[in-house]
Amino acid sequence: MAQERNNIRNLGSDLEFENKIRPQELESFSGQEKIVENLRVFIKAALMRGESLDHVLLHGPPGLGKTTLANIISHEMGTSLKVSSGPVLDKPGDLAGLLTNLNAGDVLFIDEIHRLSPIVEEYLYSAMEDYKIDIVLDKGPSARSIQIELNPFTLIGATTRSGLLTSPLRARFGIQCHLEYYDSKVLARIVRRSAGILGITIDDDATLEIAMRSRGTPRIANALLRRVRDFAMVKGGGHIDLSITKIALAALNIDARGLDQMDNKILMTIIEKFGGGPVGLNTIATAVGEDSGTIEEVYEPFLIKEGFLKRTPRGREATELAYSHLGIVPPGVEATLF
Ligand code: ADP
Repeated sequence: MAQERNNIRNLGSDLEFENKIRPQELESFSGQEKIVENLRVFIKAALMRGESLDHVLLHGPPGLGKTTLANIISHEMGTSLKVSSGPVLDKPGDLAGLLTNLNAGDVLFIDEIHRLSPIVEEYLYSAMEDYKIDIVLDKGPSARSIQIELNPFTLIGATTRSGLLTSPLRARFGIQCHLEYYDSKVLARIVRRSAGILGITIDDDATLEIAMRSRGTPRIANALLRRVRDFAMVKGGGHIDLSITKIALAALNIDARGLDQMDNKILMTIIEKFGGGPVGLNTIATAVGEDSGTIEEVYEPFLIKEGFLKRTPRGREATELAYSHLGIVPPGVEATLF
C-alpha cells in the first residue's frame, strides 16, 4: 500500500529527478553539435597542457542546458564544481570566500551572471585575468589591502540576457557559446533517454508528440514527460501512448504548436487589445500580468523563432501566423472581404 501511494503521488522530488536524468558527459548531451564539438577540443587541449580550461560564457533562454554543460565540463576536466548565482553574490566577501576555496582547475559556475553587482564584478576581473584578488582589511585609517593568489580556475558564466553583460566582463570569457532552441528530433532523443533512465515505456509517436510540444526546450520536454507519465499511471496502465499523451497535453493547456497558456495570452492581448501591435514590451507585460523581463527572456524568443511575433523598432507585432493560430481574421483580410 505504501509503495502504491508513493507511485501515485510521484514522491521523487524535482531535484532527484533532475539529478537522475542530467547528462554527465558530452557524449550524452544531445544537440548543440557545434558547441559540443568545440568544447570537446578545448577540454582535450587544456587537459593535454595540464592547464585549467579558459573561462566559458553560456548564453541562451532558460532550460536549454547551461547548468548541464557546466556540470559536464567539470566532470570531463576531472575537477569539482562550485555553484553560485549573480543575485546571491552581493558582497565582494562572498565572492572572495568562494574563490579562495577553489582547488587548481576547479570550475566555478555563476548562473545569472548579468545580475552581479558592479562591485563584485570588478573583483571578478582580476580573479579571471591573473588569478589574484585584492582584499581590504580593516576600516578607516588602518585599512589596508592585501593581495591573495588564487588557484587557476575556470569560471563558467550563464546568462539568459547576454545583452545586459558589461563589455569588460564579456571580454574576459575566452570561450563563448550561444545555445539555440532544439529541434523536435533532438528533443525526441532526449525524451527517449529520460524515459529509459526512469524506466518509463513510451511509444515512438508519443515521444515525438511530447518533443514537438516542448517549445524547443529540454527542461520542458522532461517536465512534460513526467506529467504525461502521471496521466498514464492514473488513467491507463502506465504505458505512454499517443492518445494518453494528447489527453495529458490538452489537460495541461499545451496547444498543438506547443504554445502554453501564457504564450497564447500574450498573442491574444497584442491582437485584441492593441490591434495586433506594434506595442511596447512593458505595455504587454502590464496587460498580461507578467514581468517584462520574463516575457523578454522566456516567452518572446520562442514566439519570434516560431514566427508568431515580430520585433520592430516601434514595438512587438503579431504576425499573420499568430492570427491564424488563434482563429482570428487579420484586419487587412477583413477589409478585402467587404
Ligand atoms: P539551463 O541551465 O540552461 O536553464 P539546465 O542545464 O538546467 O538548463 O537543463 C534543464 C534540464 O534539461 C536538465 O534536467 C537537463 O537534464 C536537461 N537537458 C538540457 N539540455 C540537454 C541536452 N542537450 N541533452 C539532454 N538533456 C538536456
